[in-house]
Amino acid sequence: MLTIMADSSDPIENLRRLVRQVPDFPKPGILFKDLTPLFSDAHALASLIQLLAERSRPMAPGIIVGIEARGFIIGSAMAHAMQLGFVPVRKPGKLPAATRSIAYSLEYGTDHLEIHADALRPAQPTLIVDDLLATGGTAAACTALVEQLGATVCGYAFLAELKDLGGRRQLRADVACESLMID
Ligand code: AMP
Repeated sequence: MLTIMADSSDPIENLRRLVRQVPDFPKPGILFKDLTPLFSDAHALASLIQLLAERSRPMAPGIIVGIEARGFIIGSAMAHAMQLGFVPVRKPGKLPAATRSIAYSLEYGTDHLEIHADALRPAQPTLIVDDLLATGGTAAACTALVEQLGATVCGYAFLAELKDLGGRRQLRADVACESLMID
């Protein structure tokens, strides 16, 4: 018998159904949340960007900083929807001009992040965007980079959050943090 799954009336539930869980990637013990099926579905992509942009507007950002690589996909689409500029935070050696750099720890390793030294203005209200909040090490490092440049973090936006890993505790407590899918 063919069963056709009707769309849920809950837009978040519709997004959740498209998340692909990949066990033991990129190393044993990690349950990787593959969000690419949400990006390749036109309705899901439009919906997630609209929802994140709506929830982030009260943070009154003046610019969006997105973290390589999936933060670029969400952050640049949000920047377009909110008529804001976009600044990439990248892995080492990718940005061509003078950079600031910081070390950070991932759920599965350590790395560095870089930002162009002149990318943000002093006190500019900055929204940090990434695909997923896990331990919070990446977003905390991005916070430090934004603040090194003299800008102000006004909020965080994530598509997904792994609540049990406690990432929010690593973020600035005085600004809002929006995650569409919290597990
Ligand atoms: P963390 O610094 O621990 O908050 O990790 C966040 C970053 O690592 C994000 O850029 C995610 O893309 C990636 N990440 C960490 N854990 C996972 C996971 N279980 N599934 C998908 N992405 C993850």
